[in-house]
Amino acid sequence: MTPSMTYARPVEPHTWFGCFESTEERALRAEVRQFVWDRFEGLREEIDAKGRCDHLMPLLGERGYIGSLVRPEFGGAGLGLGASVVIAEELGGVIPSLAALRAVSGVFVAKPLEEFGTQEQVDTWLRPLLTGEYTTAVAMTEPQSGSDLAAMRTTAVRDGDGWVLNGAKKFISGAAESDFILCYVATNPDAAPHQRLSGFIIPTDSPGVDVSKAVLTMGLKGLSHSYVHLDDVRLGPEHLLGAAGDGLRMLEFLLAAERIDIAARALGNATRAFEEARAYADIRHASGRPIRKFQAINHRLADMRATIDAGRLLVLRAARYYDQALAEHGAEAASRICNEEASIAKLYCPEKGFWVCDQAMQIMGGHGYEQGTAVEAMFRDIRVLRFGGGTDEIQRHIVQRDDYRRFHESREQA
Ligand SMILES: Cc1cc2nc3c(=O)[nH]c(=O)nc-3n(C[C@H](O)[C@H](O)[C@H](O)COP(=O)(O)OP(=O)(O)OC[C@H]3O[C@@H](n4cnc5c(N)ncnc54)[C@H](O)[C@@H]3O)c2cc1C
Repeated sequence: MTPSMTYARPVEPHTWFGCFESTEERALRAEVRQFVWDRFEGLREEIDAKGRCDHLMPLLGERGYIGSLVRPEFGGAGLGLGASVVIAEELGGVIPSLAALRAVSGVFVAKPLEEFGTQEQVDTWLRPLLTGEYTTAVAMTEPQSGSDLAAMRTTAVRDGDGWVLNGAKKFISGAAESDFILCYVATNPDAAPHQRLSGFIIPTDSPGVDVSKAVLTMGLKGLSHSYVHLDDVRLGPEHLLGAAGDGLRMLEFLLAAERIDIAARALGNATRAFEEARAYADIRHASGRPIRKFQAINHRLADMRATIDAGRLLVLRAARYYDQALAEHGAEAASRICNEEASIAKLYCPEKGFWVCDQAMQIMGGHGYEQGTAVEAMFRDIRVLRFGGGTDEIQRHIVQRDDYRRFHESREQA
C-alpha cells in the first residue's frame, strides 16, 4: 500500500476528548496513537496478505498494552478499562486484526487466567502471554452452536485424575498460530447450564489437537480463523481452569469487559473511516470546489462526527462504570453491575460504526472501495463486531430486559 492511499494523519483534532478523559488517559491516547501509526500503519496490507500478526504482539507486550487490564502482581499494567479502551480504539483504527488478537490475549484469555488460575497456571501461561511470547485463542463457538453457549457439544470426560476431550470448534481466531487455547467444553452435558461447562487450557501441540483447517472470512484477515478439532486429547488436571462446572461463570464474569472492548474497537474503526473521509473531502474537487462544500457531503460528515462522539461517550461511561464497580465490588460483580451499559455500548458502536464506514465509503466513492485503502479495511473489518462477542439482537434483548427489570422494581417500590 502506498502512503498516499491514507488521507488521515497520526494527529487529528477531534480525538482529543478533553473534558471526559483524565490527563493520564489523554497522554496515553497520544502515546498509543503515535506508536501504532509509526510502527503498524504501513503493515496493514502485508499482515492481511500473510494472514497473521502474532509477530507484532511482543511490541505491544513491551509497552504493557496487552495486559493493560491485568493487575501488576499477575504481570499486567493494571491500568483499568478506562485506559484499556483507549488502546483498543487506537489500535483498532490502524490494524483491526492486531486489535482483535490483543483483545483475545489480554481480555478473553488473560482475565479468566488472572481470576481463576492457580499460581502455576499464572506463571506458565499468563505471564508469557502478557509479554507477547505466547499467542493464544479462545474457543467457544462450534459448528452447531454460537450465541447459545450452553448448547456446546464438545466434551471433556474424566480419565483418572485427568480428562479426555473430544469435539470441534469453529471460527477460532488465532488458533492456527497459538501456543495454547482456552477452550470451553461440556464436562457435565446433562446438567443445567450453570454446571454444564468448564474451561481448559489446551497446548496446541497436544496429541489429538488439529487446528489446520482454516475458515476463510470476509474481514479480519490478519489472523487465522480455524476449526479446532479435538480427538481424544488427554490433559492432566493442571489444564482445568477453575473448578469443573465453572465455565459459564467464567464467561459471564468476562462479559462486560469483553463487550466494552469490542465497542471500543468498533469505535476505532469508525473514527478512522471518518478521519479518512473528512481529509479526502477537503482535497477532492468536483465542479471547481472541494466536495466538502456540497451540503450532501458536509451534512453526512456532521452526522458521522456526532455518531462517533456519542459512541465514545457510551464506551467511556461503560468503562468508567466497570472500573468503579470493580474497585468497589470485585470482578464478578462488576460484570453483572454494568451489564446493561456494556450492552448499550456493544450495540451502538459496531452497528452505528458500520454505518459510519459506509458513509465514509460513499464520500470517497471508488477511492474508498479500492483495496488497500484504510476505509475499505475498516468497512470489512468492523462488520464482524456486530455479531462476534454477542450479536446486535442479543444486546437489544439484554438492554430491554434490564430496563424493564428496573422499571418493574421502581413500580413495586412506589
Ligand atoms: C471472523 C470471526 C472470528 C471469530 N472468532 C471467534 C473466536 O475467536 N472464538 C469463538 O468462540 N468464536 C468466534 N467467532 C464466532 C462468533 O463469536 C459467532 O459468530 C457469534 O457468537 C454468533 O454465533 P453464530 O455465528 O453461530 O450465530 P447464531 O448464534 O447461530 O445466530 C444467528 C442469528 O440468530 C440470532 N439469535 C441467536 N440467538 C438469539 C436469541 N437468543 N435472541 C435473538 N436472536 C438470536 C442472532 O442474533 C443471529 O442473527 C468468530 C466469528 C467470525 C466470523
